[in-house]
Amino acid sequence: SLYLIGSTTNITELKQREVELEEAQRRAVLADRAKSEFLANMSHEIRTPMNGVLGMAELLAKSDLDPKQKTFTDIIVKSGNALLTIINDILDFSKIDAGQLVLDPIPFNLSEAIEDVATLMSTRAKEKDLELIVRMQPDLRHLYVGDVGRIRQIITNLLGNAVKFTDSGHVLVDVTGRSDGEQTKLHVAVTDTGIGIPEAKLKLVFEKFSQVDSSSTRRHEGTGLGLAITSRLVDMMGGEIGVESGEGAGSTFWFSLTLPNAGRLETRPAALID
Ligand code: ADP
Repeated sequence: SLYLIGSTTNITELKQREVELEEAQRRAVLADRAKSEFLANMSHEIRTPMNGVLGMAELLAKSDLDPKQKTFTDIIVKSGNALLTIINDILDFSKIDAGQLVLDPIPFNLSEAIEDVATLMSTRAKEKDLELIVRMQPDLRHLYVGDVGRIRQIITNLLGNAVKFTDSGHVLVDVTGRSDGEQTKLHVAVTDTGIGIPEAKLKLVFEKFSQVDSSSTRRHEGTGLGLAITSRLVDMMGGEIGVESGEGAGSTFWFSLTLPNAGRLETRPAALID
């Protein structure tokens, strides 16, 4: 009977601990949500002064300066832009997390959006001596997508990573699709010949703040938010995203979307994700 008393106490204690744990988890979720809402609401307050600082620094950099002043203002502009990228990532992620991001449904030509991003990225690719190739199935040139800003953001993130994590070879954007009259299943694959991702880390890359190399000596800058934002945006557009890679074997990041051949893109609210 002693044994029985002991085990009853243990069970009561265990149940108590379980209740406490659940309560703590509930509070953590609420705190996390409150933090996201706070950041999403602060978005304007944080971006406006930052844009002021950057705008003035850029003007200053173009004015008549002696070499030393020019070097200093260039550093302000470069650092300011790096900070703005980080701020934008954190604010975007918070907005999505708080269910406050709404997609703009106005359709825009897909091939133009991809060409635009590729042109912007080509400077960085050239600096690293990488070949940047865009291949697009000709019958997809007429396709229109919703929220061109977010589509550009998705492609910029994937293409930016491909260029960032590749030291030699090429980066290929391959746009293919299959049409059934009313809609087209679009598939965009970004393949690089870069460092690749070890299999054990593959599943984690779409998680927030995840970086394969998280050592303090890592060579590449970043917040670990780009792919988390990208995958949530693709989700909001009702699409799918994935990756195939291996250590030292390059990577292919792809996403697919089902688009109406005419008309507007169906979207679902951010709050329904997860
Ligand atoms: P970051 O801001 O660190 O680039 P991302 O969310 O965009 O954050 O990517 C997360 C991590 O996934 C990166 O830090 C990197 O380790 C890995 N990764 C992403 N794209 C590639 C790629 N094309 N090749 C190799 N590793 C990649």
